Amino acid sequence: MKVHIEDLTRVFGDGDGATVAVDGIDLTIDDGEFVTLVGPSGCGKTTTLRCVAGLDRPTGGRIRFGDRDVTDRPPQQRNVALLFQDIALYPHMSVRDNMAYGLKIAGFSREERYRKVEDAAGLLQITDQLDKSPADLSGGQQQRVALGRSLVRDPAVFLFDEPMSDLDAKLKRELRPVVEQVTDRIGCPVLYVTHDQEEAMTMSDRVAVMNDGEIEQVGGPKRVYDDPRTEFVASFIGQPTTQFFDGRVADRGGEARVRIGDYEYPISRSAATLEGYLGESVRVGIRPQHLGVVRGVDGNVPATHLLDEPLGDVTHSFFETEFGEVTVVTGADFEGNREEYGIVIDPEEVMLFDPDTGVQIG
Ligand code: ATP
Repeated sequence: MKVHIEDLTRVFGDGDGATVAVDGIDLTIDDGEFVTLVGPSGCGKTTTLRCVAGLDRPTGGRIRFGDRDVTDRPPQQRNVALLFQDIALYPHMSVRDNMAYGLKIAGFSREERYRKVEDAAGLLQITDQLDKSPADLSGGQQQRVALGRSLVRDPAVFLFDEPMSDLDAKLKRELRPVVEQVTDRIGCPVLYVTHDQEEAMTMSDRVAVMNDGEIEQVGGPKRVYDDPRTEFVASFIGQPTTQFFDGRVADRGGEARVRIGDYEYPISRSAATLEGYLGESVRVGIRPQHLGVVRGVDGNVPATHLLDEPLGDVTHSFFETEFGEVTVVTGADFEGNREEYGIVIDPEEVMLFDPDTGVQIG
């Protein structure tokens, strides 16, 4: 079964005070597919998810589960599992009974309930926690119990709203593959909401990047990273953040070049592909991984070294330039000093954006 979100709109309030939280979005999630809505705070992720869950009524558009239109159905008629940051386990029940509770309500026999719980606990590696009280579990373990509670219910659609935002980085990394295993096991459509682009990139089959109530791009994580459709997507996806410059494109004997201030860099495209933009202003985007530095300026943008952050395999190095601060991913052993450097650019990896629409050119 697929989840279809069709022209979904949700407006809060009316008149001058109206907020368009979700602005006519379309998204289909296949059976067994893990799709993540990612975007900054306030872009409309939670509102979208609440409309899919039936906790909020859209102002316009439809939600369909397969060929069943559920737009006007209450949550209990949708068979969705919803996992939040607040886990809300029943404090007076054991972990086992917390996980089995939904099945009890649904009328499963005690034997069946406990068999399903044992099975889920094995997958979640919490078998030795089943007789404990939720209060005796860590945050990560409680989140596994909440996952288990949904797993045993065999939902038609699995929804997650920032379930890991309270956990530290190490626990998040541990829990991500568990979430993937559980959702794989259920094999239903999964809609996962986060503002954490790393979470989105590592777990999803596809990511939908939201901005201001709209989806700017949907695609596989690698595709969205390698070929962002807009300047917003390029800036939101990827760490450290894409560096942007105001520039112009020039034709040098059929080869395109980009000018940033008084400095000119070759880019690996023919001038013909930039028809209409030659001589015009553009936004130049380059990921810090595709920037480098050379000792001495040598015709490049001059850069003064500020600081290094060694991360083991690479170093994040910060430089001051006449165009503002620039982050460069340098080698593991890079250590800047007070010398003058020049910024170099991988000509294959330069992204150009229309300054008015923000859409990538070429
Ligand atoms: P966050 O990551 O901060 O939760 P989000 O991307 O999930 O953000 P939403 O919570 O969907 O964003 O909110 C989208 C917009 O709608 C925001 O401007 C928010 O203030 C507004 N909004 C959400 N719920 C309501 C409500 N019940 N009444 C009025 N405005 C609301």
